[in-house]
Amino acid sequence: MIVDLRDRLHALLGPAGLIEDADTIAPRLRDHRGRYVGRSRFVIRPANTEQLAAAMTLLYEEGVPMVPQGGNTGLVGGATPHETGDEVLILTDRMRSIRAVDPAGDTITVEAGCPLAEVQAAAEAVDRLYPVSLASEGSCTIGGNLSTNAGGVQVLRYGNTREQVLGLEVVLPDGRVWHGLRALRKDNTGYDLKQLFVGAEGTLGVITAAVLRLHPRPRGRAVAFCAVAGVAAAVTLLERLRGVAGETLTAFELVPELGLGFVLAHMPGRRRPLGTVSPWYVLAEVASQGEDQRDVMEAALAAAIEDGLVQDATIAASEAQAQALWALREDMSDAQRPEGASLKHDVSIPVPLIARFVEVASAAVHARDPGVRICCFGHVGDGNLHFNLSQPVGIPAADFMARTGEFAQLVHDIVHAHHGSISAEHGLGRLKVEEITRYHDQVERDLKHRIKTALDPKGLMNPGKVVKQ
Ligand SMILES: Cc1cc2nc3c(=O)[nH]c(=O)nc-3n(C[C@H](O)[C@H](O)[C@H](O)COP(=O)(O)OP(=O)(O)OC[C@H]3O[C@@H](n4cnc5c(N)ncnc54)[C@H](O)[C@@H]3O)c2cc1C
Repeated sequence: MIVDLRDRLHALLGPAGLIEDADTIAPRLRDHRGRYVGRSRFVIRPANTEQLAAAMTLLYEEGVPMVPQGGNTGLVGGATPHETGDEVLILTDRMRSIRAVDPAGDTITVEAGCPLAEVQAAAEAVDRLYPVSLASEGSCTIGGNLSTNAGGVQVLRYGNTREQVLGLEVVLPDGRVWHGLRALRKDNTGYDLKQLFVGAEGTLGVITAAVLRLHPRPRGRAVAFCAVAGVAAAVTLLERLRGVAGETLTAFELVPELGLGFVLAHMPGRRRPLGTVSPWYVLAEVASQGEDQRDVMEAALAAAIEDGLVQDATIAASEAQAQALWALREDMSDAQRPEGASLKHDVSIPVPLIARFVEVASAAVHARDPGVRICCFGHVGDGNLHFNLSQPVGIPAADFMARTGEFAQLVHDIVHAHHGSISAEHGLGRLKVEEITRYHDQVERDLKHRIKTALDPKGLMNPGKVVKQ
């Protein structure tokens, strides 16, 4: 029977559509953080939507579970097959063309396997901006971005991937194709089906193509690094900057002294940007079509310094300096690695409650273990914090990792009490599928379950991810 299915897939997809070389398959069976290593019955690489639809029709008839995978940069194990080895892994990397770029309509139509960086470059080539920007942009794909509703550093101004999508083409679990590839900004024809697939992490079907919004390219930017006394001051500064810069405030990132110290210690070539050492800093960016970004930033910061909200600040005098300031923030994830084990909590909190959350959660963590080093940073402008815990100095990393569940529950209970979310950007995947049931009530769980069952009655699409089956 297995041989039969293999031959039938081979007949549908051709030799390039079925990967059988163990060395090529191996990295696809392991998630980015090495937390999960799965097995798969077959690994397929369809060349186009028609091939994928034919293969999925066959797999559905045979009752074979399927796992879609794009760039495999996801951080919650969503793209990794289970250890059982009964799932077929579907790679989208041959479906990667840019079908159309339309500067007049400000849209781009791309296939799901297209890497994010290529979409950004295609937009730039017609003097437009595709604003989703992640550190993984060279490898992650549009299909993966849509399926995880990826965020990144410009959500404050442009929104998540969800806000960029106008239309989708999707192969449903039974192999039928939904042709929703519309480029309309207005389409009030009932339920917004495309949004069901955004953030679904491959549990409702395989996205094969998308129409995405493009935006005007900012002509310039002003990037500032400011020392602030505390998180509450940072949130007040956000309010002030927003009041002055409005929509041109494109990023507002919180940086802790601990994390900055990690970057300076471990990332070659990085330099402390200010003479003042403070427990917290803010990296803010104003970008617009005009030429006055620096004036806007200077005026806002001068007022904030006068009011005692900001202790010290620098505004980049060149693009190179702007990049150097951004590097301090972007290096923060990598700089935690040499410090040993790190327990990561990708959470979001309503902005007015952020300062209180950081205070309460930090106190609770230190009450449990005063040696834990809290490296809390992130996209404060949109309420997203990476509340990461670096291990106490001098203990074995494995001892700290063994406390993952204990600290996750501690932190996530406090997130929940502050009306936040236990997954701001990365999704639920396999990592948080159990845990989310603690925080969603019966009605929400029931609605999600019904959506899953309605679109995937046999439960074959990426089982065991997002929704408990
Ligand atoms: C260094 C680094 C930085 C990161 N920074 C950010 C960040 O700032 N913000 C953020 O949000 N994320 C970030 N991520 C996480 C990750 O890059 C994103 O989740 C990204 O959107 C995943 O895209 P991918 O193509 O790699 O998807 P994969 O990892 O391959 O898959 C992710 C999920 O989507 C599903 N999927 C993939 N393709 C399809 C498809 N075509 N149809 C249906 N389902 C599909 C998979 O089954 C899986 O559940 C980062 C990751 C790394 C490694």
